[in-house]
Amino acid sequence: MLFSAVNPWFAKAIILVGTLAIVIIPASRHPRGGQIKVVKSRKGRMERVLLTLTALGFFLPLVWVATPVLAFADYPLRLVPFIAGIFCLALGLWLLYRSHADLGTNWSITLEVREKHQLVTQGIYRHMRHPMYLALLLYSSGQALVLPNWVAGPSYLVAFAILFALRVGPEERMMVEEFGKDYEAYMGRTKRLVPGVW
Ligand code: SAH
Repeated sequence: MLFSAVNPWFAKAIILVGTLAIVIIPASRHPRGGQIKVVKSRKGRMERVLLTLTALGFFLPLVWVATPVLAFADYPLRLVPFIAGIFCLALGLWLLYRSHADLGTNWSITLEVREKHQLVTQGIYRHMRHPMYLALLLYSSGQALVLPNWVAGPSYLVAFAILFALRVGPEERMMVEEFGKDYEAYMGRTKRLVPGVW
């Protein structure tokens, strides 16, 4: 029963809803976000490559939903990973929503400081320094569990994990440069992703 097969159409519906939510959550929070002037940008070549790779990883699941080109890598969907995946997706989306609500107009898709940028250390940011990255790691892990395809399932997780690993250091250096002692003190009392652990 626990390992019985689940119809992949359920996975397709969930991937569509999840993808829509990932796009709508930032857009609904930042209707004019792009209009606030960027005063410092660290969008170098590596950041561009990482963003492209992540975009590819993000859209492959939609290719799986809409076309049969990745069908060679399909496997049967089972109930336990399906339920665990839905849990990770839901938690990830909730955390994404919370992070956007707290970060407000200070958010950027890349490494940028905006005009009148404020250091946020309250709300969900009181518990960890990178709740939005944790949210997307949770979401992409959920996708890997829910989507029964060896290519499209883990594509976003792999791409985002690479982006996270290579971006988190430069992002924190940029924040120290911008906010000095305030960010250093914030680093002293918080962990990157998991409170009390790392
Ligand atoms: N790393 C954060 C934010 C991701 S969005 C998270 O995972 O929640 C990336 C941008 O957010 C960065 O370019 C930086 O300008 C901004 N940023 C990161 N941490 C911030 C903070 N504590 N307060 C304000 N802006 C922050």
